[in-house]
Amino acid sequence: MRLILLGPPGAGKGTQALRLVAKYGLVQLSTGDMLRAAVKAATPVGRKVKDIMERGGLCPDDIVVSIVAERIEQPDARKGFILDGFPRTVPQAAALDRMLKKRGIALDAVIELRVDEDALLQRIENRIAEMKARGEPLRSDDNPEVLRQRLLAYRQQTAPLVAYYRKQNVLRTVNGMAPIPDVTAAIDKALPPEPSTPKSKPVRNGAKGATAKARTPRVAARLGRKSSKRASSSRKTAATHKSPARRSKSGETARP
Ligand code: AMP
Repeated sequence: MRLILLGPPGAGKGTQALRLVAKYGLVQLSTGDMLRAAVKAATPVGRKVKDIMERGGLCPDDIVVSIVAERIEQPDARKGFILDGFPRTVPQAAALDRMLKKRGIALDAVIELRVDEDALLQRIENRIAEMKARGEPLRSDDNPEVLRQRLLAYRQQTAPLVAYYRKQNVLRTVNGMAPIPDVTAAIDKALPPEPSTPKSKPVRNGAKGATAKARTPRVAARLGRKSSKRASSSRKTAATHKSPARRSKSGETARP
C-alpha cells in the first residue's frame, strides 16, 4: 500500500503514520525527519536547509525530491510506504507521479487530515507549553512564530495538492480534529479495500511471447469475467485520468 498523509503542521500526520505503520507494516517516510537528520549530521544538504527550516519555510523542491527518490528505492519501502510531509508543492507531486510511473506503481490513497487552523494553533501552543513544563526537548521550529510561518507555507504551497489529488481520484478527507482513535478509524474506513501490487508483467497465455493482448477466449474464461471486467474498467480509468491513480470501490463512495 502506498499512501500520502496530507495536512498542515500539527494536524496529526506523524501520529497517524505511526498507527498505520503498526497496522499495515508499511514504512513511514517523513521528509521532515530526513531533513532534520541531515541538519544534525551537518551534511551538505543539511547545511543548505538549516536556516530555511528554522524560519519555517519550505526547502527547495529538487533537494527534497532527490531525497525521496533515493529513499523509496530502498528494500524496506518496496512493500509499501506512507509519505508524511511529502509532497508539499505541486512540482513535488508531479515529480512523485513520474517516480511512481517509472516504477510501474501507483498511489492507493492520499489522506487529507482536515483541521481548523485556529484550533490547531491553540493545540500546538498547548503542546509546546506542556513539553516545556515536562522539560522535554523542543524542535527548533516548534514556536508560535515559526508555526504561523509553516501554516502560511501550507496554505500557499501545499493546500493546492488537495485539488491536485482530487482530480486524480485518490483523495480521501477525514476530520483531523476528532480524537486520535476516531481519526485512525476514519482513515481505516477511507483506505481502499485491497492494497495495490506493482503492475504485473504482461499476462502470458501459455505460448511463448504471447501477452494479455492476444488472450484467447478460453484463457479469458479461465481468468474469469470479473477480472476481465476489472481490467477493462482500469483501462477506462487510465484513459479518462492521465494519472496512474487507481479508482477503487471505496474511492467512489468516500470521495468528498
Ligand atoms: P515536518 O516535520 O514535516 O513538519 O517538516 C519540518 C520542516 O522540514 C518543514 O517546515 C520544511 O522546512 C522542511 N520540509 C519537510 N518536508 C518538506 C518538503 N516536502 N518540502 C519542503 N520542505 C520540507
